[in-house]
Amino acid sequence: MPPEVTSAIPGSASSSTTATVPPEAMAGAPVRPILRTAPETPLVDVMGGSARWEIPVHEHGFVALVDAMPRLVPEGKTADFAIVQAARVSYGDGTKHVNEDRGLVRYLLRHRHTTPLEMVEFKFHISMPIFIARQWIRHRTANVNEYSARYSIVPDRFYRPSVESVRSQSKLNRQGSDGAIEVGTAEQFLELLKDAESHYQKYLSLTEQGVARELARAALPVSLYTQWYWKCDLHNIFHFLSLRMDSHAQLEIQDFARAMYALIKPIVPVSCEAFEDYRLNAMQLTSLEIEAVRSGKPLATENKREHAEWEEKRVRLGLA
Ligand SMILES: Cc1cc2nc3c(=O)[nH]c(=O)nc-3n(C[C@H](O)[C@H](O)[C@H](O)COP(=O)(O)OP(=O)(O)OC[C@H]3O[C@@H](n4cnc5c(N)ncnc54)[C@H](O)[C@@H]3O)c2cc1C
Repeated sequence: MPPEVTSAIPGSASSSTTATVPPEAMAGAPVRPILRTAPETPLVDVMGGSARWEIPVHEHGFVALVDAMPRLVPEGKTADFAIVQAARVSYGDGTKHVNEDRGLVRYLLRHRHTTPLEMVEFKFHISMPIFIARQWIRHRTANVNEYSARYSIVPDRFYRPSVESVRSQSKLNRQGSDGAIEVGTAEQFLELLKDAESHYQKYLSLTEQGVARELARAALPVSLYTQWYWKCDLHNIFHFLSLRMDSHAQLEIQDFARAMYALIKPIVPVSCEAFEDYRLNAMQLTSLEIEAVRSGKPLATENKREHAEWEEKRVRLGLA
């Protein structure tokens, strides 16, 4: 459909938008009219007209989806459409016939094409304990704006697990945890958390006496909740999710990551299906592992960790 010229030219005699006149117009250069194209099919909101989709996490946390790009998609399509649209620009008309939409998205994911997936973005409002936020913020490709405890008094919300979910230190993985610890020890730990929370009243009182909020917060524990807006593109969200939904990630951040995944899945179902098939539930084999399969011999390394990882993969592959 040919584009239709509908707009007034900013800065022309009929325009009242002098505040938005671009600099070149003010310099006397001609400004071209905006060409607007009507959609070929009606557009629908990928969030079904909602302002927010929220999933509570733990007692005080949540992951809320507050916006998406594309927000509007042609009726009958999902936001996966934006990936296909962007990918096709690189192939041109010549290869259109081989690129059925779902197949194209799956090809892109399988072959680690990244930029078409960056055409889809999601904006979240998230509330999580500070010790989780510290892990989350390591993902550098997102745009983040966090609640300021310099500017405002922080609300008294703290992460406190249930007795049953206090975990013991893993004996195998220095960074990990194992199953539940015995109840008496768990209760002692919860008492300790309570003590740390009790600093909150003193924090309030000292800020009322004039201590700067930016300093007073130093007395608060990392179980305190913070919140932020977090915007990221789909490629980097998948990277975040593959690391943080993984069983090696801390359980608490896994809970947040799973909530995030549940929010985006209905919006980009084709990409999520491919993500599950080619990333989340897939595995990578090292050259040593491939050689072990071919030769039927043990892994050619002394490294105990590599042997343990290979054993896990063998179980998944049905080889052990
Ligand atoms: C289970 C687990 C345990 C961890 N343990 C520790 C730990 O003990 N100590 C610790 O400090 N961290 C730890 N981390 C954090 C980890 O090392 C990464 O910093 C974090 O997962 C972010 O990963 P990323 O850099 O790939 O992601 P992002 O920052 O989201 O970046 C995505 C991708 O963009 C690219 N990229 C981003 N920024 C740059 C850049 N400046 N230059 C080049 N490429 C860039 C990279 O390809 C990167 O993979 C751990 C993470 C996990 C999942």
